[in-house]
Amino acid sequence: MDVVLSRRQLIAGLAAGSVTACVTNPDTGESQFLLVNDGQLAKMAATAWTDAKRQTPISRDPALNSRLSKVGRKITRAANRQNESWEYAVFDSDQKNAFVMPGGKVGFYRGMMDFTQNDHQLAAVMGHETGHVVGRHAAARYSAQMASQAGLVAANVALSQSDTRYRNEIAAVLGAGVTFGVILPFSRKHESQADRLGVDYMYRAGYDVRQSVKLWERMAADSAGPRKPEFLSTHPSPETRIRDLDAYIRTKGYV
Ligand SMILES: [Zn+2]
Repeated sequence: MDVVLSRRQLIAGLAAGSVTACVTNPDTGESQFLLVNDGQLAKMAATAWTDAKRQTPISRDPALNSRLSKVGRKITRAANRQNESWEYAVFDSDQKNAFVMPGGKVGFYRGMMDFTQNDHQLAAVMGHETGHVVGRHAAARYSAQMASQAGLVAANVALSQSDTRYRNEIAAVLGAGVTFGVILPFSRKHESQADRLGVDYMYRAGYDVRQSVKLWERMAADSAGPRKPEFLSTHPSPETRIRDLDAYIRTKGYV
């Protein structure tokens, strides 16, 4: 189900206070049009994270949890984000999906962890999701919707923190939509950037970047089966991204 946020939802969802406009992303060097800053997004993500954990059972399996946080720590260090506080949770569900939200909230579904054959493949998903955060894709998506649907004036409307009506939509903008049944795919441009940043982090962290290609190939093959991986419902055609990723890995001399 695709849900496009309404103007009202956007206004209600905007934790404004100060308006950020064109800023250079220090990690990618890109100039981005942003109406929301990292602190505001992190605040919203904290609420969405609490909701997600309340809504889906958490796995207490120590092996799964330590595997996730171990890979997570290596990837955040490679992304130069080790000084931020990160929190990890394994959601006890068969879904093949994962998300990383601004403010360092990392959620992996058990189904996704089981699907990965090794830590390299887990790192590929972790790297990709972290790439969305470093690329500030949630903020960019949020801002683009704000600008097109509500106008800049709306950016000055502050979110009432007690207004819980649009929580699910906000979670979706932040990248945790699957948990709440609201699917908001990132653009193709954001997806390829997340793929590229993801393998950069894998490489720096000492993982085998070829396993990222392997993972997406396996996922593509799996999509022919009775249960299409949820991850693919928000991601572009695997064939194209596998080809692009493979070319990128070679160009960078990672293999
Ligand atoms: Zn993605």
